[in-house]
Amino acid sequence: MTEIRENEDLLTKDRDYVWHSMKPYSPDTTIIVEKAEGSWVTDHNGKRYLDAMAGLWCVNAGYGRTELAEAAYEQLKEMAYFPLTQSHTPAIKLAEKLNEMLGEEYVIFFSNSGSEANEMAFKLVRQYHQQKGDHARYKFISRYRAYHGNSMGSLAATGQAQRKYKYEPLAPGFIHVAPPDSYRSSDNKDCMPHELQSVKDIDRVMTWELSETIAGVIMEPIITGGGILVPPDGYMMGVKEACEKHGALLIVDEVICGFGRTGEPFGFMNYHVKPDIITMAKGITSAYLPLSVTAVKKGIYEAFKGTEEYDYFRHINTFGGNPAACALALKNLEILEKEHLYDRSKKLGAHLKQSLTSLLREHPCVGDVRGKGLLVGIELVKDKTTKEPLETEIVNKVIAGCKQKGLIIGKNGATVAGFNNVLTLAPPLNIEENDLDFIIKTLTEELKAI
Ligand code: PMP
Repeated sequence: MTEIRENEDLLTKDRDYVWHSMKPYSPDTTIIVEKAEGSWVTDHNGKRYLDAMAGLWCVNAGYGRTELAEAAYEQLKEMAYFPLTQSHTPAIKLAEKLNEMLGEEYVIFFSNSGSEANEMAFKLVRQYHQQKGDHARYKFISRYRAYHGNSMGSLAATGQAQRKYKYEPLAPGFIHVAPPDSYRSSDNKDCMPHELQSVKDIDRVMTWELSETIAGVIMEPIITGGGILVPPDGYMMGVKEACEKHGALLIVDEVICGFGRTGEPFGFMNYHVKPDIITMAKGITSAYLPLSVTAVKKGIYEAFKGTEEYDYFRHINTFGGNPAACALALKNLEILEKEHLYDRSKKLGAHLKQSLTSLLREHPCVGDVRGKGLLVGIELVKDKTTKEPLETEIVNKVIAGCKQKGLIIGKNGATVAGFNNVLTLAPPLNIEENDLDFIIKTLTEELKAI
């Protein structure tokens, strides 16, 4: 009795004191998570859920890893904090490890979140062009539907109007182009396939905007939050070539795609491109502590060397690269490698996508099943011919039905009204095979019920 009372109190206090992201408070659907192990979380009433979104696509190594907690604890006891205006061993070791993974020389700047890592990249790119005397280069190109963060610059780079319009004006100088969308563009039979058209658009926009004003392009290898838009082979290379042709830098946002989500250590590795700048967060610590990275090609960093007193990079971050987070990240990367979780993501992801495709092929509302590695999207439509998106209430019903049966899945899309119609799956990379079967069974049942 006392326990039930306490649980009710928690929900009341949550409603009274906690401001949640992106949703009005709804006591009937809010769960207060208290424990987590492997791919499962347990709420304050003892109900278990399989977390097929790994939190917010970030708990790559799974929950309940005591080795990660211990790595942070040992570091906190030894040396809790020192700013990276000087240096410390965990940051140096992590920067070295990332270089080994990237296979090229990158200099690492640490922050705490994906938004900060992207914000830092924009500042750095603008200053880089200034250092070289290219004073007119300030514009960034990004794609509609992509999400790049919540700060005034990273939100300006974001191509999702619903998230932005209440906060405008945002940072100026961000231009959007169409993303590659092979599902919706395949209707367009008379023209060049849209997904390759969209790389041409980037090249054309750079010309029309005047090459000398373009600072860079920011892109995820696969657009994640905008509905899992997997580009065709050749798209990412095409963007890199356009950047080189017009003198712009390519920033690749690996905040979600990084650390095995797409079946490779980094998403760009699927497309054989070498980015100028790479931003990382989430999976770098499997979300056990906040940490993010902006990795910058050595040659770019060198443009900042030996400059005037007031020309050095003027960006500082108090907590970025804190020793415990770096020590934990090193242990996390060791686990991802030792347990072959990149390959596991590739193998299990292919199985997940293939099973859903064959089970749902005949379903009148399943327009498309797509993804790479343990990153899968299912686009729901009202009519497979017109591709009109399925009504939000029905999409929400599927999600609620799954939740009732103990399965947490995500929902993404263009975020403009009606187009939030892509169910998303991104479970921990060490998910058990029978848990994957539970996802397939539950989701299929719920979809068949509509
Ligand atoms: N980039 C991408 C691709 C993201 O998905 C996110 C967050 N979901 C961010 C950047 C921003 O990361 P954060 O929430 O850590 O600021």
